[in-house]
Amino acid sequence: MNTIISVKELVKNYGSFKAVKGISFEVYEGEIFGLLGPNGAGKSTTLEIMETLRDKTSGKVMICGLDLDKDPDEIKKVIGVQLQTSGYYPGLTLVELINLFGGLYNQDVEPLELLKIVNLVDKAKNKYKEMSGGQKQRFSIATTLINKPKIIFLDEPTTGLDPQARRNLWELIKKIREQGTTVIITTHYMDEAEQLCDRIAIMDEGKIISLDSPDKMIDDLVNSGFERPKQVKAANLEDVFIHLTGKEMRDE
Ligand code: ADP
Repeated sequence: MNTIISVKELVKNYGSFKAVKGISFEVYEGEIFGLLGPNGAGKSTTLEIMETLRDKTSGKVMICGLDLDKDPDEIKKVIGVQLQTSGYYPGLTLVELINLFGGLYNQDVEPLELLKIVNLVDKAKNKYKEMSGGQKQRFSIATTLINKPKIIFLDEPTTGLDPQARRNLWELIKKIREQGTTVIITTHYMDEAEQLCDRIAIMDEGKIISLDSPDKMIDDLVNSGFERPKQVKAANLEDVFIHLTGKEMRDE
């Protein structure tokens, strides 16, 4: 396995507050790597440092063989970063927005090709503000692909979406990975991490407290003698919801 990101002893202090306390990890080429943890654990800070959007206090970060301290501009060329939804001009159409970003990245873009990947060709001439929540998220993932990056970073991409839209986004993220792109994702949702991530790092209070595949983490817990307090039913409420309302997308 090739290492595409290497983080060593990363520290971030905000004044006297230690938000990230010397974490180290590697991300392998072609995997979906998850950063999990409660609010305030330091996930976004870590993500934004790797994205070159936030300065670190100390430590070493290498991305695609490039040193964050020496080549941040080169790193920007090989990564795709998701904007917050407020980063888009609401009155422009999806095609106009993609052309605008293409210009900013100095890239030739095929707006319809990109919209096809995220299943939004039908909305090409619609304005951004006319999109549903799920469509906006899919569009923002399309914009991460404009510069044909080797790695994309997704910060809580499914927060606020309904179950169908979330499942749809998982399929999209898997499809992007199948095309060879490495994906780093933060999430609060354990089912999302279990479904999607090859490996996860669980962060708490600025430290990584576990790093492995979801399967291995669960097996280790079971092998340690852990048992769920009561027999779990063979389905949960989300299964009921999906069964009743169907798996197809509703945000079209
Ligand atoms: P997470 O993404 O895991 O919720 P963050 O990386 O956003 O965590 O935040 C980690 C900690 O650092 C939190 O306690 C947060 O309040 C603090 N923090 C984040 N950004 C700043 C900032 N710009 N100035 C001061 N403290 C910050």
